[in-house]
Amino acid sequence: MFIHRTPFFLPWLYSNLVWRIRTERKELFLTLDDGPVPGPTEFALDVLRKYRARATFFCIGDNVQKHPDVFKRILQEGHAVGNHTFNHLNGWETPKAEYVENTTLCDAVMDEHQTGNKTKKVVLFRPPYGRITRAQIKALSAYNIIMWDVLSFDYTESISAEACLKNSIKATRPGSVIVFHDSLKAEKNMRYALPRFIEHFTEKGYSFNIIPQ
Ligand SMILES: [Zn+2]
Repeated sequence: MFIHRTPFFLPWLYSNLVWRIRTERKELFLTLDDGPVPGPTEFALDVLRKYRARATFFCIGDNVQKHPDVFKRILQEGHAVGNHTFNHLNGWETPKAEYVENTTLCDAVMDEHQTGNKTKKVVLFRPPYGRITRAQIKALSAYNIIMWDVLSFDYTESISAEACLKNSIKATRPGSVIVFHDSLKAEKNMRYALPRFIEHFTEKGYSFNIIPQ
């Protein structure tokens, strides 16, 4: 059994991080982590375009460097991007200086491939695995650190695509920040769950927006 909804005490303990967006409207905030990767990222972009939904992509710097065209397409299609470190580091196992340096490196690569407004800095950050120390949070205080309200577990091999979809729908409420992955590992479940998730909530009158900078 996977707990898809973030337990209430985490946002209480880490109240300076963003777990959910306060809103009076029927709106949701999709996030896609670990891309850009040709294949899964392009699939996600096609689905988002079909439903006129927008999402926030937390990109790994190394993947941006390898696949700049896919990264540019994310921006061209009106989505937001955030920093997810250059090498997908686990904050609990990485010294603060190295963690900050790796995050800065991710920024540099993203800046290099920004389309249009070159002065537009990336201000959203999501720690890989959700693992970050209080010292690292303090060191990255220039960023808006985005956690989540709903985890799809699409990357977990032991979860069926149907359960991934059903449980994610059940855990979602207005203002939820929902995590999917545009990675090869999650591709099978994401290809099943993401379009159906968006369709379900679109039919219920929800809109999908980017996380406010
Ligand atoms: Zn990740």
